[in-house]
This record gives sequence, structure tokens and C-alpha cells, in this order.
Amino acid sequence: MSDGIIIVGAGLAGLTVAEALRAEGYEGPITLIGNEAHAPYHRPPLSKGYLLGETSEAQLSMRSAEMLAKKNIALQLNTQIKAIDRKARTLLLSDGSTLSYDGLALCTGSRLRTLPMAGADWQGVFGLRSLDDSKAIAQALDAAQNLVVIGGGFIGLEVAAAARKKGKTVTVLEAADRLMPRVVAPLISNFYYDLHTENGAEIVLGAAVSELVGTDGRIAAVKTNDGREFKADVLLVGIGILPNVELAEAAGLEINGGIVVDACGRTRDPAIVAAGDCAARRLPDGSVRRLESVQNAMEQGKSAAAALLGKERPFTAAPWFWSDQYGLKLQMVGLTTGFDQVVQRGNLGDKKFSAFYYRQGQLLGIDSLNQAAEHMNGRKFFDKGIFPTPEQAADVGLNLNSLLS
Ligand SMILES: Cc1cc2nc3c(=O)[nH]c(=O)nc-3n(C[C@H](O)[C@H](O)[C@H](O)COP(=O)(O)OP(=O)(O)OC[C@H]3O[C@@H](n4cnc5c(N)ncnc54)[C@H](O)[C@@H]3O)c2cc1C
Repeated sequence: MSDGIIIVGAGLAGLTVAEALRAEGYEGPITLIGNEAHAPYHRPPLSKGYLLGETSEAQLSMRSAEMLAKKNIALQLNTQIKAIDRKARTLLLSDGSTLSYDGLALCTGSRLRTLPMAGADWQGVFGLRSLDDSKAIAQALDAAQNLVVIGGGFIGLEVAAAARKKGKTVTVLEAADRLMPRVVAPLISNFYYDLHTENGAEIVLGAAVSELVGTDGRIAAVKTNDGREFKADVLLVGIGILPNVELAEAAGLEINGGIVVDACGRTRDPAIVAAGDCAARRLPDGSVRRLESVQNAMEQGKSAAAALLGKERPFTAAPWFWSDQYGLKLQMVGLTTGFDQVVQRGNLGDKKFSAFYYRQGQLLGIDSLNQAAEHMNGRKFFDKGIFPTPEQAADVGLNLNSLLS
């Protein structure tokens, strides 16, 4: 007898698939299997409110096992899925048992990229992916004064901001010549450089880390190629993540920077879907795109659940994301890679502005700082396919909302 639909990974995407299956009317067995000890929880506060002590562990929880049981969703924690036998439609679990499935959702998320350097496993060196990581960092920061962050991306900068709020001495080492170089325009990078500097963090750009210095297996400092040395009681390595694709790869599914899926989250195996950080979506031009965000985990999870039930529900909304640093909220919509023009709307000094990114006059995306209404307008532009021209975007006297009516 089959165990119905099995979901591997009890994160946001996995939870979304489980609940969407019920919402779509599926009445068979659903089992959500995760290798962490915790029921599904929110990750974004781990580098923001939770680290600051403003968000409690209880507030991180998305659903308890009891809440899921009410929807007849079985939650199995502390369990690793070791292998998929696609022919037999069975899974091998870490306790040696097997489960059979009619439908399988792979929501295995991602893991931290580690520093390929001696000392990366010393005490005081952290990455931030899980609740346990965030707890350990918070504890270590309480007992420390000097934090060094390697990597000036969102997570590194959010931790830096939280540590400054706690009065710690903070240094951020970024290899590129500006912060968040992959995702924002120089004007936003420069704004955040100034923001961190004003708040007392030292930002070092063009920093090539050459060596970790430690004593008795504990981090003490970080050296850069130019001979500088930065004291570190705590080192946060924020150099990105890698999708967890090995399970799917060993089962012979297509991998290309992620588990390859279509717009509905389907793999080439009709019984298997994938969603969230682990999934790379094949685009109409043949390229693939993998996103790492709450919205993607939720929307792709819903599409994948529908696909398991034979329904065509592609995920079409424009991507959005946010970051909180020093009480300021940056919200992004669209994908801005390849822009050739950035239009600033509003005043950087007011800490309330937007950047509109264009390529050949076509709007690619909008980053809004402390402009929630403008961000929501931005999402509507992409939903409706109505886009302000660069001239309209630059005209602060024009209410952009009026373009939508
Ligand atoms: C600190 C932090 C801050 C973030 N901030 C933001 C933000 O501000 N905005 C935003 O949009 N996004 C943010 N994100 C990203 C967002 O949280 C992720 O994109 C989202 O959680 C992805 O969900 P997921 O379910 O795909 O993966 P995950 O949440 O990683 O869940 C996957 C789960 O599957 C488990 N697993 C993997 N392999 C197996 C296996 N073989 N067997 C069993 N279990 C397995 C993993 O351990 C994990 O528990 C942040 C992430 C982090 C870590």
C-alpha cells in the first residue's frame, strides 16, 4: 500500500506543499519529513528580530505538529531521506525504514557555502541557516566584543546591523568593490555602505581573506591579502548557499544549478515535483533560474502541490524579497540583473526612496527603501504589465498609483 504523498524537507516550501494539497482537496495521506529537530519555522527573523531578541522562538514557529495533525498532515522530524527509488516509488529513511509514495515533493532547501580555509571549523566561527545557528550566534555575541563578517550580502549585513545594535565592534569584509554587488545597483550599495558606517560598523571593500588566525581551536582574527588583521571573537561567514540537490541527483533527476522544474514545479518524473531554494526553474529561453526567497518557496510550493494533483497552476508573479537593517526596510520586486539604467525616485538623505532598474527602457525591477506603498505599486505593475517610463519614475510629483487605475 502507498503512503500517499511524501514531502522531503519541513521548511517553508515543504509546509506550503502539504497545506496546499489539503486546500486543493487532496484527502489521501500526507507526510512531511524533515531532518531538523524543529517543526517548520520562519528563517528571515534569524538574522533580524530573533538575533536582536525582539522575536521569540515561539513567534518563529509556522506550525506545530498538533496544528498539522488537525489537517491530517503527519510531521516526522529528525529524519533524513537517504535515497529515492523512482522505479519502485520508495524512499529510504535514515532509520533504515522505507516509505512508498504516489507523489513526491522535494523541498530540500539549501545549505551554507563554507570557507575553504584552515580554521573554518574553529570555535567562534559560524554560518547562519538554521534556528540552532542563530541561537548559537546570539549566545556567542553576548559573550564577545568583536564580530567580523565575511561577505557583504543580505545575511551578513543584517547580522552586522544586529550586532551594532548590541554595541559590538563590527567589521564586514566584502571581496567586491561594493556591498550586495550581485543584486542591487551601486546607488543602493553606496547607501548601505554609508548607513553601516554611520552606525559604527567598519566596511572593508575589496577584501581578500587570506588566513584565519586562531588559538587553541578558537578564532582570534582574520587576515586579508593586504596584510591587515581584524580581531574576531566571533566570525560570521556569509558567503552564500548551495542548493541541496544530491538526493535528486542520485535518483537521476535533471540538475542544473538546482533540481530542474517547469513553471509548475514538475520534474521530468511525473510523480515528482520540487519547490523552494532547491529548485531551478527552466525558462522559455532554455536557461534556468533558481531563487532563494520566502515568496518563491510559497508560490512554487503551491504550484507544485497543484501539479501533483494533475492541475496546471504555473507560478507567474514577479519575484520579491526584503531586507531589514538598522530599522530600515528595503523591498525589492523584479529581477534587476543586466540593467543599463537606474532611475532614482526620492531623496537618499530622507532614507525614503526607490530605484527603478531598466534595460533598453524596459522596467526590470524596483528597490524601495521605507516605501511600502511604492513597493506594493511595483508588484502591481508587474502583475498587470503596466510599467512607468524612466521619465515617469523620476517624476516625484506623479502619483505612480494613478498609472494603475
Ligand atoms: C537567516 C536567513 C534570513 C533570510 N531572510 C530572508 C528575507 O528577509 N526575505 C526572504 O524572502 N527570504 C529570506 N531568507 C530565505 C528564505 O528563508 C528561504 O528562501 C526559504 O526558507 C526557503 O525555504 P525552503 O523550504 O525551500 O528551504 P529550507 O527553509 O532550507 O527548508 C528545507 C528543509 O529541508 C531539510 N532537508 C534537506 N534535505 C533533506 C533530506 N534529505 N531529508 C530530510 N530533510 C531534508 C533541510 O534541513 C531544511 O530543514 C532568509 C534565509 C535565512 C537563512
